[in-house]
Amino acid sequence: MSEVEHEYIKEYITSLIGSHSGILKEIEEYASENSIPIVHREMARFLELMINMKRPSRVLELGTAVGYSAILMSLSSHKKNHITTIERDKNMVEIARKNIKRYNFEQYIDVIEGDCMEILKNIREKFDLIFIDAGKAHYNHFLPYCLKLLDEEGVIVADNVLFRGMVASDELVKRRKITIVKRMREYLKIVSDDNKFITSIIPMGDGIAVTMRRN
Ligand code: SAH
Ligand code: MG
Repeated sequence: MSEVEHEYIKEYITSLIGSHSGILKEIEEYASENSIPIVHREMARFLELMINMKRPSRVLELGTAVGYSAILMSLSSHKKNHITTIERDKNMVEIARKNIKRYNFEQYIDVIEGDCMEILKNIREKFDLIFIDAGKAHYNHFLPYCLKLLDEEGVIVADNVLFRGMVASDELVKRRKITIVKRMREYLKIVSDDNKFITSIIPMGDGIAVTMRRN
């Protein structure tokens, strides 16, 4: 099995989540037709839960793509939060900004064009929620910057941490993906081993890791 979840469990869970309508559905369809990665439905629901639970006022997202998850988090907070989201692909940035405009969310979501490694170095403000969803081979490199930008009680949610199961099993690793897998394991090891943090890894979607500072 190359997926993180058993197919029948995934089907059951997503059937309970249901589907979106309106513009969000259009963005989902656009993403699927153009092979643009957006969060799995389980992750979308998980983000909505985090927004409702944590009520973050400042959110940082690494990896905007077409703005789907950013819009979802904004909708979920009823425009109560501000989201800064980073994307290095110029074309994606353009589409994301258009989608954000369709919702009139320009004042709630800032798309910054650039490489996360560069942009993260120059951000000064603190965030209550950081969603890492860009550059699977670099989560371990993003981490120190994210920790600096994380509020004392902030939460880091990282997507794709089990990467189709490869991160958990050498037998599944495709040659071309070895670097990603090694670095993702390093990310998970740091957030799991360091006593300053508490991390829970959830084998849902493509694997989710939730990290906070220990009390
Ligand atoms: N969060 C989005 C999906 C993001 S897909 C959603 O669920 O709707 C990952 C995106 O990260 C891609 O668009 C890719 O171009 C971007 N990306 C990958 N590495 C990056 C990096 N180092 N800096 C900035 N963006 C990056
Ligand atoms: Mg993802």
